[in-house]
Amino acid sequence: MPYTIHAKPLQQLTRDIFAAAGAPADIAAVVAESLVTTNLFGHDSHGVLRVKQYVNMIRDDLIKPAERPRIRKRSGATAMVTNGYGFGQTGARFAAKLAIELGRKHGIAAVSLGQTTHIGRLGEYTQLIAAAGLIGIGFTSGSMFSGWVAPYGGREKVFSTNPMSFAVPCGGEGTLLLDFATAGMAHGKVLLARAKGESVPQGMMLDKNGRPSTDASIVDDGAVLLAMGAYKGSGLSMMMEIIPTLLAGKRPIVSPDFHYGNPTLLMALSLDAFDDETDFVQQVEALKRHVKSVKPAEGFDEVLLPGEPESRSYAQRVRAGIPLPDSVWADLQALAEELSVALPTLDAAT
Ligand code: NAD
Repeated sequence: MPYTIHAKPLQQLTRDIFAAAGAPADIAAVVAESLVTTNLFGHDSHGVLRVKQYVNMIRDDLIKPAERPRIRKRSGATAMVTNGYGFGQTGARFAAKLAIELGRKHGIAAVSLGQTTHIGRLGEYTQLIAAAGLIGIGFTSGSMFSGWVAPYGGREKVFSTNPMSFAVPCGGEGTLLLDFATAGMAHGKVLLARAKGESVPQGMMLDKNGRPSTDASIVDDGAVLLAMGAYKGSGLSMMMEIIPTLLAGKRPIVSPDFHYGNPTLLMALSLDAFDDETDFVQQVEALKRHVKSVKPAEGFDEVLLPGEPESRSYAQRVRAGIPLPDSVWADLQALAEELSVALPTLDAAT
């Protein structure tokens, strides 16, 4: 039976845990807001499930909780930001704001973020760009430990789950947001399935002998994830490995000592820089209506737009609260006790 808790007390608890673990108050608040908003959007794999992992990384000196992003190089419409292995969420927000500023000035901008730990939900940052009226594109590579994904036809891990994201400004219900891992299934979703004692769908994973498996419990026992869409996804994954990693700073891309973090490239395109007579938002709205009007195929009730599952989850969870698997709630309680953080009052949590 999951423990259901509202966003506000969960955010407060998460913030207090990070602050007690060494993050300055403003950074703890940003990371907590980012993780809990990710839960609200329904991506529990990248929400407060990560609190224990991040605290352990602080203890192991892999996340430097007080580090802040800074611009390392700036040239016209491009910039490199270095995050000093601080929290990825603060670095990626900084990079997105810089991409907006440069995109408005130059019509197009690309900002890389290096020396960063896990940024969480890539779509948070492309959505920030779209909310500012520009097209947001994001590529992310790497993991703190090693890859998870085998190249097409292979049975050994090479790539990380390397997400990509696109967000365009639109009217009506806000951003049209596409945001996904180039792995068939994000590693965090396999961890979540393991936490819930569930299996994963067919076609997502091979066991240590290279045989297809649906057993989430073997994820850290020699299993490999498969890319989405066979060789096309495998190729995308390779591009997501190359572009953000190498534009974020000098490093060997093939190394036994793989320790790259989550390099990210955020791009912003200004609508006005192109044909300023194109009524971009109205045209996007027309396409949204057209796509929504398509008759559903067998087994479907309706056609959903990119970002629609997330906005529905958000509306439902803001109202009804966020269901946490027992193991995730137990981890948060244990961390609160270890770090002498007060649990939210029972009447704030439901
Ligand atoms: P996913 O497989 O759930 O796909 C999500 C995307 O598909 C969203 O844009 C969603 O709106 C769209 N979508 C889902 N169902 C749809 C439907 N029925 N019709 C139309 N569109 C639909 O996402 P994922 O691959 O599990 O990734 C989840 C999150 O994890 C993302 O936010 C991603 O950025 C993040 N992630 C981060 C890292 C990292 O290294 N930081 C790695 C992997 C994933």
